[in-house]
Amino acid sequence: MIYTSTRNAGIQVTSAYAITKGLSDEGGLFVPSEIPDISQDEIAALGSMSYSERAFAILKKFLTDFTDDELMEAVKSAYDSGFAVPDTVQIAQLYPDCYILELFHGPTCAFKDMALQLLPHLMTISAKKCENMQGNKIAVLCATSGDTGKAALEGFRDVAGTSVTVFYPEDGVSDMQKRQMVTQEGGNVHVCAVKGNFDDCQTGVKEIFGDKELNGYLAGKSMVLSSANSINWGRLAPQIVYYISAYASLLAEGEIEAGEEINVCVPTGNFGNILAAYYAKAMGLPLNKLICASNSNNILTDFITTGVYNRNRDFHTTMSPSMDILISSNLERLEYHYHLGSNCKDLSGWHKKLNEQGCYEVNDLVKTKIAKDFYGNWCSEADTAAAIRNVFDKYGYLMDTHTAVAFRVYEKYRKETGDQTKTIIASTASPYKFCSAVYQAFGNAPDADEFITARRLEELTNTVMPEPLIKTQSLPVRFRDSVETSEMINIIKSL
Ligand SMILES: *Cc1c(COP(=O)(O)O)cnc(C)c1O
Repeated sequence: MIYTSTRNAGIQVTSAYAITKGLSDEGGLFVPSEIPDISQDEIAALGSMSYSERAFAILKKFLTDFTDDELMEAVKSAYDSGFAVPDTVQIAQLYPDCYILELFHGPTCAFKDMALQLLPHLMTISAKKCENMQGNKIAVLCATSGDTGKAALEGFRDVAGTSVTVFYPEDGVSDMQKRQMVTQEGGNVHVCAVKGNFDDCQTGVKEIFGDKELNGYLAGKSMVLSSANSINWGRLAPQIVYYISAYASLLAEGEIEAGEEINVCVPTGNFGNILAAYYAKAMGLPLNKLICASNSNNILTDFITTGVYNRNRDFHTTMSPSMDILISSNLERLEYHYHLGSNCKDLSGWHKKLNEQGCYEVNDLVKTKIAKDFYGNWCSEADTAAAIRNVFDKYGYLMDTHTAVAFRVYEKYRKETGDQTKTIIASTASPYKFCSAVYQAFGNAPDADEFITARRLEELTNTVMPEPLIKTQSLPVRFRDSVETSEMINIIKSL
């Protein structure tokens, strides 16, 4: 399988190269040059396999430069332990047509673990395969608004040949998210607050990547920088697995028939998770609509309905912060695949325009294909809270704020279209990761101490806080640094 760049079809690299490099030099994203097929027989055969075996069978189609032993060892290390449910993921049924795919049972209680438990293994194997990487230590950098940072820390902790450094905005993450990061264990992990917002962190990290002098200095110490964010193919590929796996589970349990089409509904920020569902559909998984759910940062809803992407708008801070995002980087990959075979020279132009003017409009081909595959809608703050409360009252099921956005958008879709197709809603975080907002959705005032709020939420809903979150209460705080954006680079120099 050859990988190319969304902005230069002349680039032809292996998956190992794409994973270690992260981003192509001219700014494009790495994409598989063709999308492999999965047959109905292959899907059915997954039914009797463990999650790691399913991951092996699916990822083998994309990571063809990995040996079977390498890939099997990687997926087993990632998924056979560290998850709180026996099958790594779990499916709950709300009512006959509506399933919740719980992707948050990993060590950090958000779905980012599904990719970030595997990425470090893929990255170290890849580095061994790439000549220019051999003998180098990989310094992974990450700017985070909360979930990615913790998942990257947990994934890379004590992985030989790597270190991981996370920058988070001092006042821009939830108490629980901060606690999870500053108590991180491991010998190769670094966590640092930045005096600024998430954009400042991200800009600082981008400057570090682009700093020639620093990169030269690191090269002298046999170190190379890499990124753990969702533009990396090694983060996207593992996410394809759980859609196919969920379908195989429903099939094995007799909930659906072979070949039956289902919908998936995904709470969306950077467009990584829902793009993985698109890849699954393109491979041949019987998926009908991909329902893209946004919060009041509803730029994707507008894009899907009009074909115009316009980030010249107000940024809203919401109770689903992991979806508070105005640039959904992975859209570029979707646009690329919609043009396969008819070479799109417009693509670089669109993204140049996005950078310079904050706005671009796709052509009719892309508009038509988006309208066929996707449905987009959004959910207000009041509706998010109401969804948490109503679903709990009606079905006794407690959702986090991001999942609640998806559920509400699914309801809108059903009402608008009358489509009764069975639907999987991706549940991306434990409600206890955002427990103040969840507790508030029931009309209660949260305590200043999130652990007290969590205890009250447990009593109110007869649910329990996941073990990894409870554990952070007794762990010592290891990281207290807080720096100006301009000082971030010094942290890297001292690695
Ligand atoms: C990251 C995240 C999302 C958004 O996922 P994308 O792949 O960026 O679209 C949704 N919910 C939670 C809890 C997240 O951590």
